Amino acid sequence: MSQDSETGKIRNADRDLIALGIAIAAILLFIATGSSVLPSVARAIFGEGGSPDHLLVNALLLNIALIIFGWRRYRELMSEIAERRKAEETAHQLAQTDPLTGCLNRRSMAEATDLLRHNSIARGQALAFVMIDLDNFKQINDMNGHSVGDRVLTKIADRLRDRLPKDALLARLGGDEFAFVMAYDRNKPGTVDDLIIRLFDTVGSTMDIDGVIVDVTMSIGAASDGEIAADKADPLHNHDAEALMHRADIAMYQAKKQGKNRYFWFEASMENELRFRNELETGIRRGVAAGEFVPYYEQQIDLETGELVGFEMLARWNSPTLGLVSPEVFIPIAEEIGVIGEMSDKLMTQAFADARKWDPALTLSVNISPVQMRDPWFSQKLLRLLVACKFPPNRLEIEITESCLHENVGMVRSMISSLRNQGVQVSLDDFGTGYSSLEQLRSLPFDRIKIDRSFISELRNADASSKIVDAIVSLGQGLKMPITAEGIEDKQILDTLRSMGHLKGQGYLYGQPETGRQVLERLQETGQLSTDVEVASDSAQAADDVGTDAADVDDTAPLARQMSKR
Ligand code: C2E
Ligand code: MG
Ligand code: MG
Repeated sequence: MSQDSETGKIRNADRDLIALGIAIAAILLFIATGSSVLPSVARAIFGEGGSPDHLLVNALLLNIALIIFGWRRYRELMSEIAERRKAEETAHQLAQTDPLTGCLNRRSMAEATDLLRHNSIARGQALAFVMIDLDNFKQINDMNGHSVGDRVLTKIADRLRDRLPKDALLARLGGDEFAFVMAYDRNKPGTVDDLIIRLFDTVGSTMDIDGVIVDVTMSIGAASDGEIAADKADPLHNHDAEALMHRADIAMYQAKKQGKNRYFWFEASMENELRFRNELETGIRRGVAAGEFVPYYEQQIDLETGELVGFEMLARWNSPTLGLVSPEVFIPIAEEIGVIGEMSDKLMTQAFADARKWDPALTLSVNISPVQMRDPWFSQKLLRLLVACKFPPNRLEIEITESCLHENVGMVRSMISSLRNQGVQVSLDDFGTGYSSLEQLRSLPFDRIKIDRSFISELRNADASSKIVDAIVSLGQGLKMPITAEGIEDKQILDTLRSMGHLKGQGYLYGQPETGRQVLERLQETGQLSTDVEVASDSAQAADDVGTDAADVDDTAPLARQMSKR
C-alpha cells in the first residue's frame, strides 16, 4: 500500500474521531439545554409566555446543526464501508476464480472439493474428481496466437459447464488443465463413465473461432473415493481433496502416455509407474551432466561386397543404478524433458572423436530426434560442432525419421538442403513405419532410405512377405535413392536382400552394437584405423571415455527388452 493512501486513511480516521466527539458533545448539550429551552420555545410559539433566552436558543440551533453534521458524517461512513466491503468481495471472488473462464481456480477447488466430499459422505454418496488436459494446446496457441488460445479455453469451459451436473464444481487449474468434481450414487459407478464419454463427444468437437477451425481433443484422468471411503486406513481419509486430485492427475498422465484423447481411472499400479518415471527423469538429467550417456556403434556393410563401410552410432545410458539402458527407454523422456539436444551434442562430440581414429573412408551415422529438428539453428549448430571436433562433414550421415516430416516440412527441407550443401548426408530412417507420402519422398532431398527392420525380419518367412521390401527397393531405384536394410539377423535374410539389388545393410548378423574401444580393436585387426592413431593408448583412452567394457554389450538386448516393456 502507498504512503499517500496510508496518511489519507489516518487523516480520515482523525476526522471521524473529531466528528464523533463533536456529535456526542452536541447530543449532550442538546439534552442539557434542550430540556430547559424547548418548553420555553414551545410556550413562546403558543403565546403562553415571553420570548426565550436568545443565547440558549442559539445554543439549541447550534446543537441541531451539529447533530445534522454528525448524522451526515455517519451516512458517509456507512457508504464508505459498503464500498470497501464490495471491493473486498471482488478481490475475494478474483482470488477464488479464474478471470478468463470464471471457473474456480486451483486453490478454491481444493477447498470446495473438501467441502463437497464432506457433504457427499454425509449423504452416503461417492465423489469423483476428474482432471481434463487439452491435447496439443501449445500447438494451437503457437499456430493461431494467444487470443485464439484464450477463446478455445473459454469455449471449452462453457461447454463443460453446460454438460456437467448442476451440483458439480468446475475449475481451471492452470494453462489448459481443467477439472471437475461431482458426487454420485455409489451404486451406479457407471454414471461418471457415461458423463466422460459424453464429454468426449461434445466438448472436444471442432470449433470455429472467427474462421479459424480448431480441433481440440482431451486426455482425462478420474479418481473416486467410492471404493475406499469406508476404509479408515486409507490415506485418502487424511488429506482428501489433494489426494484425489493427485490420483486423477496420475490417471490423466496415463491417458496422455497411452496416446491422448482417452480417459483412465486411477489405479495403484500407475503410481508406481509414475514414481519410476520420475526417477528416470532425475537420473537422465543427472546422467547427461555426468556424461553417463555413451555411444555404441553398429557396423554398416555393403551387402554386395561384404565390406564394412561405416558405423551407426547408437546411444546407451550407462546408469549407475539401472545398468545399461536402451535408447528406446531414455530418448523419448530426454525429448520430453528437453535435454535431448545437450545429450546428442555430447554423444556426437564423443562419436566424432572416436571416428577420427577410424579409416577416413568409414562413415559415421547419427540419429537425430524430431525435437532437435524443430530448432531452426540446428544445421548451423551441427556444422559448428563438426568444425570444433575437426570432423569432415562428408563422413557424417544424419538419420531422421518420418515423424520429422509432419511437423514442418518447409523447415525440414531447408535444413536438409543446408546440411547437404556442407557435405553432410541425410537419410530417412525406419522407412515404412510412419506416414511420409511418396510426394514428400520425391520432393525432399534425401541421400538414402533405410528400410525399417520390421519389414526385413519378415523376409524370414520365405514366401510372399518379401514383396514390400522388393517394392521399397524398386522405389529407391526409381527415385535414385540408395537403400540400407536394417535388422539383418540371419544368412537367409541376407541372401534374399542380395538378390534384390545393390544394398547396404546392418544387423545382428554382423554383431551387436559395440563400444568405442571394441570398434578400435576390430578396426586394428582389419587394418582400418586412421594412419595417425596409436592404437594401444587410444583404445585405452576410448575405454576410459566410454566408461564401459566388453561385458556390457551382452547385457544390452535383454535389458532393453525388459525396460521398454515398462
Ligand atoms: P534405429 O536408428 O532404427 O537403430 C536401429 C536399432 O535396431 C538399434 O536399436 C539396433 O540395436 C537395433 N538393431 C540393429 N540390428 C538389429 C537386428 O538385427 N535385430 C534387431 N532386433 N534389432 C537390431 P537401439 O540401439 O535400441 O536403438 C533404438 C532406436 O533408438 C534407434 O533406432 C534410434 O531411432 C534411437 N536412437 C539410438 N541412438 C540415438 C541417438 O543418439 N539419438 C536419437 N535421437 N535416437 C537414437
Ligand atoms: Mg537409425
Ligand atoms: Mg532405424
